[in-house]
Amino acid sequence: MSKKYVYKFGGGIADGTAKMKNLLGGKGANLAEMAGLGIPVPPGFTITTEMCTVYYKMDRNYPSELYDQVEEGIDHIEKVMGKKFNDPENPLLISVRSGARVSMPGMMDTVLNLGLNDTTIQGLIKTSGNERFAWDSYRRFVQMYGDVVMGLKPERKEEEDPFEVILHEKKVAVGAKYDTDLTTGDLKDLVSKFKAMIKERKGQDFPEDPAEQLWGSINAVFGSWMGARAITYRKLNNIPEDWGTAVNVQAMVFGNMGDDSATGVAFTRDPATGNNRFYGEYLVNAQGEDVVAGIRTPQPINDASITGPGQVTLESLMPKVYKQLESIYQNLEKHYQDMQDIEFTIEKGRLWMLQTRNGKRTVQAALKIAVDMVEEGLIDKKTAILRITPDQLDQLLHPMFDPADKKKANKLGKGLPASPGAATGKVVFHADDAVEWAEKGEKVILVRIETSPEDIGGMNAAEGILTARGGRTSHAAVVARGMGKCCVAGCADIAIDYAKNQFAAAGQVIKAGDYISIDGTSGEVFKDRIKTIPPQITGYFGTLMSWADSFRKMKVRANADIPSDAKKAVEMGAEGIGLCRTEHMFFEGDRITAVREMILAGDEAGRRKALAKLEPIQKEDFVGIFKAMGDRPVTIRLLDPPLHEFLPNEPAQQKEVADDLGVSPELIKEKVEALHELNPMLGFRGCRLGLIFPEISEMQVRAIFSATVECHRNGLKVVPEVMIPLVGTVKEFTVLRDITVAAADEIMKSSGVKFDYLVGTMIEIPRAALIADQIAAEAQFFSFGTNDMTQMAFGYSRDDAGKFLGFYLEKGILPSDPFQTLDQEGVGQLVQMGIERGRSARPNLKVGICGEHGGDPASVEFCHRVGMDYVSCSPFRVPLARLAAAQAALRGEVGEYTTA
Ligand code: ADP
Ligand code: MG
Ligand code: MG
Repeated sequence: MSKKYVYKFGGGIADGTAKMKNLLGGKGANLAEMAGLGIPVPPGFTITTEMCTVYYKMDRNYPSELYDQVEEGIDHIEKVMGKKFNDPENPLLISVRSGARVSMPGMMDTVLNLGLNDTTIQGLIKTSGNERFAWDSYRRFVQMYGDVVMGLKPERKEEEDPFEVILHEKKVAVGAKYDTDLTTGDLKDLVSKFKAMIKERKGQDFPEDPAEQLWGSINAVFGSWMGARAITYRKLNNIPEDWGTAVNVQAMVFGNMGDDSATGVAFTRDPATGNNRFYGEYLVNAQGEDVVAGIRTPQPINDASITGPGQVTLESLMPKVYKQLESIYQNLEKHYQDMQDIEFTIEKGRLWMLQTRNGKRTVQAALKIAVDMVEEGLIDKKTAILRITPDQLDQLLHPMFDPADKKKANKLGKGLPASPGAATGKVVFHADDAVEWAEKGEKVILVRIETSPEDIGGMNAAEGILTARGGRTSHAAVVARGMGKCCVAGCADIAIDYAKNQFAAAGQVIKAGDYISIDGTSGEVFKDRIKTIPPQITGYFGTLMSWADSFRKMKVRANADIPSDAKKAVEMGAEGIGLCRTEHMFFEGDRITAVREMILAGDEAGRRKALAKLEPIQKEDFVGIFKAMGDRPVTIRLLDPPLHEFLPNEPAQQKEVADDLGVSPELIKEKVEALHELNPMLGFRGCRLGLIFPEISEMQVRAIFSATVECHRNGLKVVPEVMIPLVGTVKEFTVLRDITVAAADEIMKSSGVKFDYLVGTMIEIPRAALIADQIAAEAQFFSFGTNDMTQMAFGYSRDDAGKFLGFYLEKGILPSDPFQTLDQEGVGQLVQMGIERGRSARPNLKVGICGEHGGDPASVEFCHRVGMDYVSCSPFRVPLARLAAAQAALRGEVGEYTTA
């Protein structure tokens, strides 16, 4: 038997199911699923994504069995519809639709009404009894086919669609406001003008043969998989090339058959807020993408969707069809147990479903829907937790407009709140400019009449997007929500003039480069910049986080060096500090002077004198941090960076420092030269500093312990964790551990206050992982410093990797940046070995991670898998890590980790 490349659906059968997304693409799999559920879906078939790969393997050819299977597919449609493809009397028309596993901009646009030519149009006129409808369909078909299959759709922003130019001229000539105002004669004339233009531009005729039309479209779908836009999108979203796209071929149903026909799109819940209300738009006597294209203003499907006065709902216009739509959407939501984004068409009062998929939503909506569905009994808490992507939360952890500042702002207008959040930036009018300006470090707002897939790059580069036209299901709105960008859409109050690079609003003119602020939650647009305030974890967010906390096994700590960061960390849910970098305290105010004095001192006595000035300051810092953290654990790392970082390199600054310290500039210069290292990252730093200059370590641990005593006296029973960095041998650790213990003994004795403390180490040098059992025999805890460990395991200097990492990523030499997401295959082995060997010597060894990776969801899952006690990351990533840790625990329960 030959391999099955074609899966049929509709007319009572379904070869596929929703589970077959990888093979049938999202659209095809869900069409099959709906057909299987008995929901009215026009019959059709899906050519698999496998065929896409075969097509490229065969140098853009097909195996012969495909032709037979497609023919069978067409037979199936013909039988169900009682019409024949290319039949002059009763012609079957079809649509050709692309559909990858995930919805992807850059893929070929759908071709509708395929199968029409100068002969079959006569049949369509006869069978429909509607000449205008037939010519409207033909007009659309020639245009779509010319645009997407014959390649006449403009690639650049300055160009116009040649079909739209002709259409526009026609409308002006006959005084038609909308497409629906054009007469049969106008449409006939347009078809012939379109064909003439195609002939002129392409030097070839528009294909009259339906079979040629069909294969031309199939080729175009597969061809678009390797189009520039699709490739860019795949790169941006880490979508593998071998996924391929499927092709869906389906019988046409017509929303453009008159006033009892319509087409629409809807969400089963509000995609912006998550409110449990059916929400959507439709257009009477329209087809395909008319609703989202903004050709006429779409109407609300029900009262809940009304946005302005004078609108006519589908519910009032076609109450019976609306009722049926309602029951289908409820059915679909129950079946998929998730919010659905649906497409439907009504042909002469008969409802057809053309698409359903899990709807894109803002993170706010995602949280509300997940929590609501648990409360409605539709899903359980675990499912709810697994449904939120940790990275999505990032948006909620960004600032919003300060209400007081916003009240005073100069309002320019109001559009639709299409994607929530707040953004401030300089106005740009073109996607290319957005990219260019953003690269220069500018924050920009992309302002467009409407957006199209060409603008994706610019939308990605912008802080927010503002459009003058389009609804909440317009391209700008859907894409912005997907990206988590703030977006105000359809703001009719602004008049954009691309030629002059400006827009007018509220009697003012805003030019490119001027600041504006947009609020995607309210739809408001303001002149100038508006102050923002930090986010909070409340409401649905708080509920979901509390559920996540109940499932996770790892603790989540934060990296924080100063009391204000520690406070932020606690607000974000941190359960301790995993890394407090003492050197960060050294730079502030007059401390740096004392630090420099210490470095410049010629002998131990000089160093001790300078350190004595630092000690009380460090102690106060620690008291502040301990207070902010309450009874949560705090890990403090002893001085780590190379000393030259504390001295300036520029002669002018060296002179300044010399004046401050009352020494000669030459001395500074000499010292800088003496401290100069060829490879400071592997030089005199970490525990090496404390071993050569023990007085530095002594001062630091004394400061830690006297702060502990002070807290104990005030009733706060702090248990500090002293962490020794960059250890590679046991002796390095024990020498400094002994200094620490001696200081603790001395301070307990002199103060009469007894306290507990731990002394542990960072595991960041590969050798330390190898001898982890020996180290653990001495050290009370491990914290993996995966930044340095990545650097040393790969042999990539962190400071220089920028020169080649980009190239490596682009060429696929590395799958991802190992400094961002932990290299589980290599560095991960060191971590795993370090834990195993460490625990072989000390079974209850406490183990955590404090590298950048502690806030990366995939790396957090790894940490869970290898049995860490906690991860530590920057305060703003703490909620992400909490969720990622919960998801790791839940995936672990069923053995379904996302990474191997
Ligand atoms: P996209 O992936 O861009 O949404 P679709 O394949 O869903 O593209 O199609 C674009 C538009 O054409 C949608 O509005 C869809 O409902 C409509 N459409 C597709 N196939 C048919 C069909 N067989 N009959 C009527 N409308 C169709
Ligand atoms: Mg499309
Ligand atoms: Mg669609």
